[in-house]
Amino acid sequence: MNVHVLPMTAAPIDAVRHDWTRAEAQAIHDLPFNDLLFRAATVQRLHFDPNKVQLARLLSIKTGGCAEDCGYCSQSAHHASGTGLKASKLMEVERVLNEARKAKAQGATRYCMGAAWRSPKSRDMDSVVAMVEGVKALGMETCMTLGMLSDDDVVKLKDAGLDYYNHNIDTSERYYSEIIKTRTFADRLDTLSRVREAGIKVCSGGIVGLGETIEDRIDMLVTLANLEQHPESVPINMLIPIPGTPLENRKKVDPIAFVRIIALARIMMPTSFVRLSAGRTEMSEETQALCFFAGANSIFCGETLLTADNPGEDKDQALFNKLGIEPMALDTDAAADAGIETAPSEHAGCGCSGTSSCQTATSAR
Ligand code: SF4
Repeated sequence: MNVHVLPMTAAPIDAVRHDWTRAEAQAIHDLPFNDLLFRAATVQRLHFDPNKVQLARLLSIKTGGCAEDCGYCSQSAHHASGTGLKASKLMEVERVLNEARKAKAQGATRYCMGAAWRSPKSRDMDSVVAMVEGVKALGMETCMTLGMLSDDDVVKLKDAGLDYYNHNIDTSERYYSEIIKTRTFADRLDTLSRVREAGIKVCSGGIVGLGETIEDRIDMLVTLANLEQHPESVPINMLIPIPGTPLENRKKVDPIAFVRIIALARIMMPTSFVRLSAGRTEMSEETQALCFFAGANSIFCGETLLTADNPGEDKDQALFNKLGIEPMALDTDAAADAGIETAPSEHAGCGCSGTSSCQTATSAR
């Protein structure tokens, strides 16, 4: 009987490296699909439980009217005449905290808050800080996405206890100006390094399906993997073309090509959470299952993602049940370091104290 093994590589396959070349990444990307998936799944098992997926919840705390012109986004003021989306004011702090409580009761361990801003205004920072402090006090990890940050903003967010800052690089440096003209790729990297220097964890990824080439997708991952420290969280989105935006007619992404990018992200950034983000409503269960096998280990739960649709909890739960996947618990060591009390045993994932209304106990296990 022939036993097929993966070819030896110069570095251990799960080495955390920051010196990737495009050629190397491309060679991995182009492996026969089964070899690519086997390698990605092997890397994942060295760092994570392959049957646990982190649940994060995303709330739009300020929708529409954004001064940036990202070609894919319904929230840009530049596309408002096409999308018809009206700008809203920043949500009240108590409303945000109420939503966070609901998300926690449904099993989310990370709460992400997004505002459609080019950068936050100083008059908004007090509310933003109160949101971070309030969500932290619930025992959840916090993530914010507010656009570009000044040194001052970063200090305030760090002092409030913000865990993660999301700032996607979206695509390759080469393709960036085809999609966004109001800022540069370098602007994006500047904010990422400011966030990193302040000691806030980085969440940064991109979008597949903007009209980029395979090489652009690979270059995007090479940029992220060659940062001094890998982003702790790497969201990979599949474009949802939104009517009224410049990218409304982009072609659907081939699911197998998408899975290849998930697998490559897992292999190049072995210890990062790879998040299967926007676009899951367009994916079959089989595609999502392949993404989980290829190393995706985080999703957004809930029925909306900022302004886009997302599968609801029921659909996700049904898929998790079929696949034998469980929601990942909050990292209790990290929580203890942060002075957060977590609930014991099987309820650690949802953060409740084992109440009869806990949905994690009844549905997720
Ligand atoms: S910065 Fe964010 S909210 Fe603003 S247009 Fe770009 S993606 Fe949309």
